[in-house]
Amino acid sequence: MRYIEPHGHMVSRVTDDYVSMVTAGCQAVCEPAFWAGFDRSSVDGFFDYFRQLTEHEPKRAAKFGLPHFSWLCIIPKESEDIKLAEDVIAIIPKFLDRPNVLGIGEIGLNKNSRNELKVLEMHVDLAARHEQLILVHTPHLEDKLKGTRLILDTIKADKRIRPERVIIDHVEEHTIKLVLDTGMWAGMTLYPESKCTPARAIDMVDVYGNERVWMNCACDWGVSDPLAVPKTALEMRRRGHSVKTIDKLIYQNPLRFLGQCSKFKLP
Ligand SMILES: [Zn+2]
Repeated sequence: MRYIEPHGHMVSRVTDDYVSMVTAGCQAVCEPAFWAGFDRSSVDGFFDYFRQLTEHEPKRAAKFGLPHFSWLCIIPKESEDIKLAEDVIAIIPKFLDRPNVLGIGEIGLNKNSRNELKVLEMHVDLAARHEQLILVHTPHLEDKLKGTRLILDTIKADKRIRPERVIIDHVEEHTIKLVLDTGMWAGMTLYPESKCTPARAIDMVDVYGNERVWMNCACDWGVSDPLAVPKTALEMRRRGHSVKTIDKLIYQNPLRFLGQCSKFKLP
């Protein structure tokens, strides 16, 4: 089996997880900027985090022959402070030329607040000005449907953004069609408890097809499984999906989306 982990927060994992992922067939891991497990208090905290994502973490992954890529932003959860968000967004262009940076993400909404929406617009503008791919985080539970609609409207309103260069992550049964209908990509995040279980993800593929969708494990600070993607592939085999179909979903699809950035190259 070969697969790409398109959304994994490796800074929150131990090195043994890299060994397990490579052993399971992982060909590349992509790490969107995320929460550190605590709110950072200044722009300097983000500066060091971006260095970690673009300098240190690729080196840690390379020890196991695994290419590591990253996405940069200030996440919705920490963007309530507009001044801090402006300061962080101002330093991001310094990092965009780094060889493992694929785009702006994971931006989006957390509680659908007015300030979060403003910061989302600032990020979309940043991506448009620098011709970057966009990776979007959608809110949890009762905020998801409304938040997804707000996010899609915000992105569609910026005519510089081409929909096929945007992925909306953490879709669920009630949001996946909404996303795919816009021409954007949809990501399904496989979590043991919340978001989406492997069984639900496979059901969604059965209903909505396997075009413009990918699966990821997120593997962040919360209860999560860095091997959720290959385990879901095994479950697909059990349910009668062909090797070809599985390879498209877990390898070729992420390769197609991420390949829109010329820096995304596999050995
Ligand atoms: Zn994430």
